[in-house]
Amino acid sequence: CGIVGYIGKSPAPSILINGLKRLEYRGYDSAGLAIIEDDKIVVAKSPGKVASLQERARADWPTERFKTSSTGIAHTRWATHGPPTEVNAHPHLDQSGGIALVHNGIIENYRALRARLESKGHTFHSETDTEVLSHLIGENDKGNLFQAVCDALHQVEGTFGIAVISANEPGKIITARRGSPIVIGVGDGETIVASDASAIISHTRQVIYLEDNDIAIVTANDVEIRDLDQVPVTREVAELGFDS
Ligand code: GLU
Repeated sequence: CGIVGYIGKSPAPSILINGLKRLEYRGYDSAGLAIIEDDKIVVAKSPGKVASLQERARADWPTERFKTSSTGIAHTRWATHGPPTEVNAHPHLDQSGGIALVHNGIIENYRALRARLESKGHTFHSETDTEVLSHLIGENDKGNLFQAVCDALHQVEGTFGIAVISANEPGKIITARRGSPIVIGVGDGETIVASDASAIISHTRQVIYLEDNDIAIVTANDVEIRDLDQVPVTREVAELGFDS
């Protein structure tokens, strides 16, 4: 339902939680976030409100964690496949636990993909359609997250807006869309990815709207966009109006 990603100079957790609050008006049933800390992915999830997620993270995480990580992704879920439980909340991880993904939309062919991955030894934890995508990206990751996401997206049918991080490549977020919106806020030394500009406007008014089948490599200082065949594409930077 709602996606926020942050990479930049400020600590990510509070920016992600505030971004999720901006998206609450769209409705959701659970929420979660993942950050990169010391080359590992750390996740917090909760059914219910973003405030519950915030309480959960405050209770479970050392205070230091709220100050150090500057890369992360977050999600408010509106369940389509699997009930609104903590395990089904996003982000979902790959088999190694080193890749985290948030997803809006529906992966239509998830049953076949899941069966194939399970037969190769992958263990699934949720009932979501989304989790096949994180496992598929992990399976395709030979050291280049962007390439792995491209390869995985070639195998899925359905709709997606996604944001992906990898502990092996802490300086970037990969984001892509097909049938579900993604907008990228270009700040000063920081970049915000979101499904809706309302999560971006408090940071910057300079935004780039992805088009279907665009995939972007997002860093704190740069946004590079290609199509799923990796051909570079140019998208205009737009200015958000005051009524956004
Ligand atoms: N189909 C996914 C799920 O059920 C994503 C739902 C959403 O867009 O929030 O987890």
